[in-house]
Amino acid sequence: MPLQLSDFDYEYLRALKDHGYLEMLIPEEVDLTAGAVKIACPDCDQREDMNSILEIMCLHHRPSPRLHPLKLNGGGFLLAPNSPLVKNSGRDVILIEDTVDAMDMKEMTTVLNIAHLPCGKINSVGLTAPQAMELFIRGRDQMIEALARPEVRARLAKKLGKAEKDLVLQVACLLHVDYGFRRPTKQKRMYHVPTSLWQQHSMPEPFSLGMHV
Ligand SMILES: [Zn+2]
Repeated sequence: MPLQLSDFDYEYLRALKDHGYLEMLIPEEVDLTAGAVKIACPDCDQREDMNSILEIMCLHHRPSPRLHPLKLNGGGFLLAPNSPLVKNSGRDVILIEDTVDAMDMKEMTTVLNIAHLPCGKINSVGLTAPQAMELFIRGRDQMIEALARPEVRARLAKKLGKAEKDLVLQVACLLHVDYGFRRPTKQKRMYHVPTSLWQQHSMPEPFSLGMHV
């Protein structure tokens, strides 16, 4: 059976949307002309919906979808340093190395960093949606830092035949939500998580969103 959001997580995600922390997805805002490396959880109940949305996004930029998936349980939640989702540390480093390798091999400049809720990996360690989002943002920042390293930029610029100063790399964070039984229609949604609003030092707390906790 597909997982269901807890009442608290459902209210938190609704509040995020109401306050603009989760935005409607606008395909043109993500550069997919060469496709993208996709980091995502392989959840068998959500994969089809996620893929269909991503493929439609791709078709706004190119004649056919081109997504290079890196799939481990937890997806974008795994990129945070010392993630509580993994018993053995280092999975974040492996995923980031693999992302850079894929960008090099496939001549891609965009990373789709995707997480979803409810996610079994998050449930398995008893995290709430705000705690999960904190992991997601910490992971995003680690990925952005990795792609800004001089040796990474030099490697990708060389492969793409560009000057380093002209190399533009993009990490787009997307959150897929399955609202489950609480919504009779449009149960599943994919949102853009705007980088400017989500910062580690000022995460949207439930109380600041007007939730009674
Ligand atoms: Zn999952």
